[in-house]
Amino acid sequence: MKINIHAGHNPDGKIACGAAGLIKESTEARLVKDEVIARLRQMGHTVYDCTCDNGTDQADVLQKIVSACNAHTVDLDVSIHFNAGAKDLSGDGRITGTEVLVYRQSGKANSYAKQVCDAIAELGFKNRGVKINAGLYFLRKTKAPAMLIECCFVDDRDDVRLYNAKKMAEAIVYGITGQRALKPDSDAAGAGGMSAPSESDKGASNDSKDQAATNQKASVVYRVQVGAYAVRDNAVAMQKKLKAAGFDAVIVKSA
Ligand SMILES: [Zn+2]
Repeated sequence: MKINIHAGHNPDGKIACGAAGLIKESTEARLVKDEVIARLRQMGHTVYDCTCDNGTDQADVLQKIVSACNAHTVDLDVSIHFNAGAKDLSGDGRITGTEVLVYRQSGKANSYAKQVCDAIAELGFKNRGVKINAGLYFLRKTKAPAMLIECCFVDDRDDVRLYNAKKMAEAIVYGITGQRALKPDSDAAGAGGMSAPSESDKGASNDSKDQAATNQKASVVYRVQVGAYAVRDNAVAMQKKLKAAGFDAVIVKSA
């Protein structure tokens, strides 16, 4: 696929830098955006980063983003944002959750939007669903099918506790492509094979170094294999079993 992606708003500390609560929208949207881009590129997709870091005000930020988007012919325009308004700074045990905005009910973007919502909800975020919004400049003015992802709420302690930029990015990539990314960074140990989520993070940080643009060296990734099949359906059946048992299993094809 060809995809435009950007983080909403100016960077923190500048005018028009978005919502702030327990975490800051601009910063987190940029982290998630970078993680999404790295994964999509690793999977072979063409990605253009249309983020604006130097808008003179909110309107200027939006104009710069949209003109960057419309300079490329793509399958999808993706805008990464974080929501605000939950006003639950201490945490009431309820996650306010995720939503994805699209321009109209029947557009091509809708199926992507629903998949992204569902994938983020799989992380444990409440699924607020796909919302139609014909008023947003980004959704109105972009040429390609467009969606605006409100990952979760910056002012909800429960959302912030659950939130992790890499996991959020993985969910978004899965929502867009229908495929699990082979992670380009230190969390890769879990993705390449089978492992329980709680184990994979620990294992990864001990065993493998960051390969991402954060410039650390590449190194070993240990994968846990439970089977090898000549028939794809059999692999899919095992994957289902593992998923049902709570393991984030992926199928890796090799000759
Ligand atoms: Zn925003």
